[in-house]
Amino acid sequence: MKNFLLVLTTLFFSSLGATTVVVIGGGPGGLATAIEAYYSGADVIIVEKRKDYTRNQGTYLLDSSLALLEKWEVHVEHMYMGEITPERKVAFLQLKNLEKALGKKVELLGIQKIHGEFLELCDHAIVVQIEGEEKVLSYDFLVAADGAHSHLRDCLHIKTSCIGQARGALAVFGSLEEDLGTIHFTPDLKNGDIHGKRSEFDGGSVVCLQGPSNSLGDFCGAIRDFGWQEDANKLADGQGQLFENIEVLLQRSDAFFNREYSAILIGDAAATGSFFRGLGANTALKAATFAGRFFREVEIHEDLAYDSFNQKMQEVTDYMIERNRSLF
Ligand SMILES: Cc1cc2nc3c(=O)[nH]c(=O)nc-3n(C[C@H](O)[C@H](O)[C@H](O)COP(=O)(O)OP(=O)(O)OC[C@H]3O[C@@H](n4cnc5c(N)ncnc54)[C@H](O)[C@@H]3O)c2cc1C
Repeated sequence: MKNFLLVLTTLFFSSLGATTVVVIGGGPGGLATAIEAYYSGADVIIVEKRKDYTRNQGTYLLDSSLALLEKWEVHVEHMYMGEITPERKVAFLQLKNLEKALGKKVELLGIQKIHGEFLELCDHAIVVQIEGEEKVLSYDFLVAADGAHSHLRDCLHIKTSCIGQARGALAVFGSLEEDLGTIHFTPDLKNGDIHGKRSEFDGGSVVCLQGPSNSLGDFCGAIRDFGWQEDANKLADGQGQLFENIEVLLQRSDAFFNREYSAILIGDAAATGSFFRGLGANTALKAATFAGRFFREVEIHEDLAYDSFNQKMQEVTDYMIERNRSLF
């Protein structure tokens, strides 16, 4: 094994006796799960390898996620509200602002966040690289929230089924106002082997494309072919923010837990869909609430807690996979 393994149990675990939950990954899913685990009474530690939140990607959050943010008292800066119908609200925000807001709540609750990289799994302990040194953290429960290419999932010997692979690109035009008004989404359109979708709101629009890896070289030309001339002209004039070469995976883990290691999977580590249908982060936040319930139930009835978590994850990821299947 490693030469230098420091056991940090006493340093990190403040209240002995409480259950210790270690969350690997401090993206939206991991941060939300940490909040839920905290409210279930656990001592929580997040391990995140990125130092800062810098992901600019535009993300839509649905009603259900907005209700969760309200429940957690998480206030996202620069979150633009709109509606699909008077009954269906939707918010548009940058992923980094969602992460910052959840991170602020995590800090407020006193949840420990370690800047380090998960390396490997031992018996109810993990090895983490922190500032160049390898350290060991013990845990009672472990959460894999380390994204679509989850290393923890591999260490747990959980395989994934890949249902589809593609590349994506999107462009955001116009100035975002506090109130986006009614957001009009086109249906998912197809031109050759490229899928296209456009949304329009007061003051701007978002155009998304998805296709095989070599098909999106000329984004401007491709959106012109869809008939979105005005957006294409803006892009040619240097207006708009373009995000290219986005990896798109339709993938699901074959299991959502490993009992031997007392571990559960949430967010993109559990399943990913296309950004076209805007379900990844929304599903991750929902999964965080299943994790919270799991932590409350597991001390009382372990079998039931795992079964119930697994069933809920199955349902929510079934929905995401089915909603995305036609795009691949
Ligand atoms: C362009 C684009 C647009 C999107 N739009 C939407 C949308 O409109 N609506 C929607 O719901 N979703 C959207 N998504 C999907 C959404 O961004 C993801 O589903 C969401 O970020 C998943 O959250 P997560 O926390 O599970 O994983 P991630 O966000 O991938 O976070 C995983 C975290 O784990 C950390 N990590 C990884 N490995 C390690 C390790 N070994 N040790 C420590 N830390 C580690 C990473 O640094 C990262 O912070 C979009 C995605 C893209 C690319």
